[in-house]
Amino acid sequence: MSEIYDNARRVLDMAADAAIRSGRAAEDVMVLAASKMNGRENIREAYRAGFRLFGENRAQELRDKLAENAYEGAEVHFIGHLQKNKLKYAVGAVSLIQSADSVELMSAISERAKLLGIRQDILIEVNAGREPQKSGALPEALPELLEFAAECGGLRVAGLMTIPPNEADPEKNIRYFEKMAKLFVDIKGKKYDNVTMNILSMGMSRDFEAAIACGANLVRVGSLVFGERQYR
Ligand SMILES: *Cc1c(COP(=O)(O)O)cnc(C)c1O
Repeated sequence: MSEIYDNARRVLDMAADAAIRSGRAAEDVMVLAASKMNGRENIREAYRAGFRLFGENRAQELRDKLAENAYEGAEVHFIGHLQKNKLKYAVGAVSLIQSADSVELMSAISERAKLLGIRQDILIEVNAGREPQKSGALPEALPELLEFAAECGGLRVAGLMTIPPNEADPEKNIRYFEKMAKLFVDIKGKKYDNVTMNILSMGMSRDFEAAIACGANLVRVGSLVFGERQYR
């Protein structure tokens, strides 16, 4: 068995255990393999190990991998910063765009989806750590975005996503996870039109168990499955 296969099995087991510890069933927490910079062979190993959900953060890489059927027909999400001129590669090609963070982007996604005659599911990405250089909407901008969803006939808001600050001590991210869980519950109680709040996407390789403990029902794991990425 390959290393990726073994890693992938371990990650799925860890996520299942964390779900059960948080009082839920294993299948209530989705585990996405963040497959950026990994090709078809590596993705296949993760698929063999049981992954049925992959995520890409670059639109052209997504397009190329879909063209070569790299995901074995499994579900794919877009998880990266989406530029307007590249959103044609993501809208309609993935089941969920996790990274909408402005009225402009929501509008562009909605228009593109209407052209295709579909309704695109999206998450709103939140900049929970208020980092100036990072994408994501600030928490106080959420009401405006959620109200705007009612005017977007080409999309549906299914929940929230966050990438917390890259703290040296992953334990520090728990406060962001808790803050996100609170926002998620508050918004769910408010009943915005065209907003369902079913998905809370947070937690990566180093902190996905903590995120599940705080209420995440979708975690995104890359390097713990595929090994450290080799940036050139
Ligand atoms: C790459 C990536 C991940 C996975 O990161 P790891 O630390 O390798 O687990 C999660 N979320 C997003 C948005 C990513 O781009």
